[in-house]
Amino acid sequence: MQFDLTILGSNGAIPAHDRHPSSQILNYNGNLFLIDCGEGTQFRLNKFNIKRGKLDHIFISHLHGDHYFGLIGLLTSFNLNWRETPLHIYGPAALEEIMNVHFKHSQTQLKFQIHYHHISADEPRLIYEDEALEVETIILKHRLPTTGFYFKEKKGLRKILVEKIAEYKIQHKDITGIKKGADFTDENGRIIPNAELTTDPPAPRSYAYCSDTVFIESFVEQLKGVGLLYHEATFVDEHTARALETFHTTSRQAASVALQAKAQKLVIGHFSARYENLDLLLHQAREVFPETHLAIEGTVFQI
Ligand SMILES: [Zn+2]
Ligand SMILES: [Zn+2]
Repeated sequence: MQFDLTILGSNGAIPAHDRHPSSQILNYNGNLFLIDCGEGTQFRLNKFNIKRGKLDHIFISHLHGDHYFGLIGLLTSFNLNWRETPLHIYGPAALEEIMNVHFKHSQTQLKFQIHYHHISADEPRLIYEDEALEVETIILKHRLPTTGFYFKEKKGLRKILVEKIAEYKIQHKDITGIKKGADFTDENGRIIPNAELTTDPPAPRSYAYCSDTVFIESFVEQLKGVGLLYHEATFVDEHTARALETFHTTSRQAASVALQAKAQKLVIGHFSARYENLDLLLHQAREVFPETHLAIEGTVFQI
């Protein structure tokens, strides 16, 4: 089952050095989830050849422009391309108001429905669920109410051993129950324990997006064991005071979050425009958490 992340934009507030504002695409088995939608996101989708037909869910972390200024352009293009499929947008309540002002004054009649899901940044909540995946909010601490997003695969069904189906003459009607963990009673009334019939499902995979935030550890427990963690890393050590002042994080602090959360892999991004070269950001993070990677635009991370 495909589960990967494409970085579309990874710079902080000001686009610089050919880097663009925050935006990412998460692909789960062909379904696309857009996470933040900084200015120019639709051009980035084109550049990396990402088809929009399967994009039905957009998640916006907060209302600083570098995280949503691309939305009005993207939605307008959807409309011009005769999109009819409903679109779900998860974000702060005021986002709906902002979008409606644009559509009102441009006299735009949308051909598709937008369902806004208002997110509050008070406590983690389940905001999306389908048969395979769920999304929880992560409460971050920034100058505006801000949430991250925690994408978690649901635990799959147990794998039934093919040879046991023949051995115990298991009927088709019993298979689903056994995959869910039930024991099996054979034709002689003998109970075959589930453990003899099945093996464990693969461990669920997960991805957490944390941007923007000052260095906090309050969500570390929630993310324990996360597969891939994206954490903003706007500054290097030298600018730690500046990070605190502007409610951002250094790359070393981001690495400390990854370490405490026992993440498998860390991706850092939201780089300050003051750094053309990102080596020091990476180096300082890797001193704490060696499995750190830069969110270079166009990179695809497997989850
Ligand atoms: Zn930002
Ligand atoms: Zn911000």
